[in-house]
Amino acid sequence: MATSTVENYIKQIYALQYEQGDGGLVGMGDLAVALGVTPGTATSMVKSLARDKHVEYTPRVGVALSESGKSLALHVLRRHRLVELFLVKILGMEWHEIHEEAETLEHAISERVLAKIDALLGRPKVDPHGDSIPSPSGVIAERNLVALDQCDVGRAATISRIEDQADDFLQYLESNRLTPGHEIEVVESDRHAGILSLRFVDGSQCSLGFPVARKIQVELHD
Ligand SMILES: [Zn+2]
Repeated sequence: MATSTVENYIKQIYALQYEQGDGGLVGMGDLAVALGVTPGTATSMVKSLARDKHVEYTPRVGVALSESGKSLALHVLRRHRLVELFLVKILGMEWHEIHEEAETLEHAISERVLAKIDALLGRPKVDPHGDSIPSPSGVIAERNLVALDQCDVGRAATISRIEDQADDFLQYLESNRLTPGHEIEVVESDRHAGILSLRFVDGSQCSLGFPVARKIQVELHD
């Protein structure tokens, strides 16, 4: 089994490759910054990952996951996201406190326990923040989501994923019911003022600024 340091590097390279970019090479400087280590530390770790065939490393250019590295990254993400859902649904924890716990547990949990958690939760497809949970074989579902600030007035949608998962932001969203699963309709969108208003199915309304709306992804209804 890979060590937690190896898993964290692999996970970070995956995030930089696939979540922020085009799946291309990740620069060593960007990787070092994201992991909070010196470029020298990142480079020696990446060289060791390359020897283990988890990544392809081109000196002075960057690093990309190999097929086995990508599969490992997806397995770590599967553990992380299932653990987060378990912490919320079964242990009743608040959704803004679960990420840090999952960061530790994702490296410690066995496949056997993970399979039990998956079954207990009914083989869920998304975690509490709306991120897709990779399948046991490492397949991640593509979804058609748009940022809330791109929604037209009169359009109905379901809040599906939160882009910014910082604690205080999640707490703010929770106190305004702006969490995944809620159905909404945009009732006003003022581009000049940068304010968007939406209505929940029970008729209550909420206004938010465009910078907030941009970090909330929704699935549009037909
Ligand atoms: Zn998390």
